[in-house]
Amino acid sequence: MSLFQAFQSSPALFVTSVTVLSLAVGSFLNVVIHRLPQILERQWRAELAEHSGQQPAPAPRYNLVVPRSQCPACGHHITALENIPLASYLVLGGKCSACKATISPRYPLVEALTGALSGYLAWRYGFGWQTLAALIFAWSMIALAFIDLDTFYLPDDVTLPLIWAGLLVNLGGVFVDLQSAVIGAVAGYLALWLVFWCYKFATGKEGMGYGDFKLLAAIGAWLGWKMLPVVILLSSFVGAVVGIALIVFARHGRNVPIPFGPYLVLGGVSALFWGDALIAYYLQAR
Ligand SMILES: [Zn+2]
Repeated sequence: MSLFQAFQSSPALFVTSVTVLSLAVGSFLNVVIHRLPQILERQWRAELAEHSGQQPAPAPRYNLVVPRSQCPACGHHITALENIPLASYLVLGGKCSACKATISPRYPLVEALTGALSGYLAWRYGFGWQTLAALIFAWSMIALAFIDLDTFYLPDDVTLPLIWAGLLVNLGGVFVDLQSAVIGAVAGYLALWLVFWCYKFATGKEGMGYGDFKLLAAIGAWLGWKMLPVVILLSSFVGAVVGIALIVFARHGRNVPIPFGPYLVLGGVSALFWGDALIAYYLQAR
């Protein structure tokens, strides 16, 4: 029996395999979340130097693969054994093996989150293209949420390919028909663009960034325009609850910006999971 046949005949084997592999993907997403903003900043600085006629300073290679991961406290190179998703963190007790500095619990958290979401998607869609597409969507969304949390910035290098990928996936109608996907991409962008300008017109402040428009365009391209109200309602609701809680309990300044990307991600992933059920429930309840 080939591996494909095994996956087809045993959903449990498929879900387990996807979950375990996705833990490793989660580990890679940690690298993307940490390094992509720095890579882009270096590129940006080099371009700026070039424009102003300066010779860009020679810099050591820095990309998603090079250099190898090291402890930020002591520079100890993380060995392969210390880099096993979840397990290494637990065995090391959350500390660097060389200097005992605390390792951020966010690393195993991102790994566990990626593994759990991916396992759920594999179970939900079964062995086939839909799972593969849903995984690409979910992994990109996880990276975007954490990059936005860290930097208040949603890189075009992720959001734009995600829009094209969504349209491409739905060219074959994997989640919705192509028409719904194209309208979803355009309407997603325009909806937040409109909110942005109304808010700016009314208050003189900028409530969100262009990255948010592109992220909602991507969600629209993947899930179709019908899901956009669900995504906007869910993300605004959760965003408002968390925002008020931060102001009340954490004494977060009222004017300190809160990134909107993570809430859009939450809304987008929830819509992928339960959007159809929510819409059906709403239509029935009327
Ligand atoms: Zn160390």
